[in-house]
Amino acid sequence: MKENKIIQLKNIEKSFGKKDFIIKALSNITIDIFEGEMVAIMGASGSGKSTLLNIIGCLDTQTSGDYYLYNKNVSKMSSKEKSKLRCSELGFIVQDFALINEYSVYKNIILPCIYSKMNKKAINNRAKALIKQLKIDDKTHSYPSQLSGGQKQRTAIARALMNDPKIILADEPTGSLDQQNGHEVIKMLKHINNEGKTVIIVTHDPNIALECNRIIYLCDGKITQKV
Ligand code: ADP
Ligand code: MG
Repeated sequence: MKENKIIQLKNIEKSFGKKDFIIKALSNITIDIFEGEMVAIMGASGSGKSTLLNIIGCLDTQTSGDYYLYNKNVSKMSSKEKSKLRCSELGFIVQDFALINEYSVYKNIILPCIYSKMNKKAINNRAKALIKQLKIDDKTHSYPSQLSGGQKQRTAIARALMNDPKIILADEPTGSLDQQNGHEVIKMLKHINNEGKTVIIVTHDPNIALECNRIIYLCDGKITQKV
C-alpha cells in the first residue's frame, strides 16, 4: 500500500504574548504523519503538547512555518474552510471529556451532526451503532453526572466519531481515568485505528505510548526524539 502523508508540519513555531513577554511554546517542529498511523506525543507538562495538537486540529495557528493537511496549506484556508475541515475530518477527545451536562448521552453524541446534512434517521442509526460499539447502550438516556469517568470518555469518543472523521486527536484522553478505565479507552482508540483512522494521542503514560506505532517526544517546545 502506498503511504499517504496526510499531515505535514514544516518548521512550525508558536509563540504566545508579545514583546517582553514572549513565550515560545513550539520551535522547529517538523513532522510527517501518514494515514492509518497511531502516534503518541509525549513530554512533560508545559512542553507544548496541547499547543501542537491544537495546531494540527486547526484550533490554533502557528506563528511561523507551514502546515499541510491533505496537501493543503492550512494557513491559506479561510476560517469557513477550516471549520468545515474541523467538523468533517477531525475528531477531538480531551482529558475532561467536555460533555454538556444538561444533555443526555444520546444528545451529546449527536451534537456534531446538528449542522450536518445527514437526515434524522441516518443520525439515529449512526449514534446507535456507536453507542453499541463504545458499550454505553444502557446509558443512552443518562446524563453525564450519572456516568463513571470511563463511560464519560466513551461518550466523548462516540461524539468524536459521529461525523466519521479520518483523524482522531486525543489530548490526554486517559488523564482523568484510573488505570482500568484508561486501558479500556486506549483499547477503543486502537480499535478505531485498526478500522483505518489516523489517531494522534498526547499522553504522559509510557505504557499508552508503547501501544502506538510511533512516539514523538517534546521538551521545551522542541522535538527531542522520534521513535
Ligand atoms: P502541554 O500541553 O505540554 O502541557 P501547552 O502546549 O499547554 O503544554 O503549553 C506550552 C507552553 O505554552 C507553556 O509554557 C504554556 O504556559 C504556554 N501557553 C499555552 N497556551 C497559552 C496561551 N493561550 N497563552 C499563553 N501561553 C500559553
Ligand atoms: Mg496539555
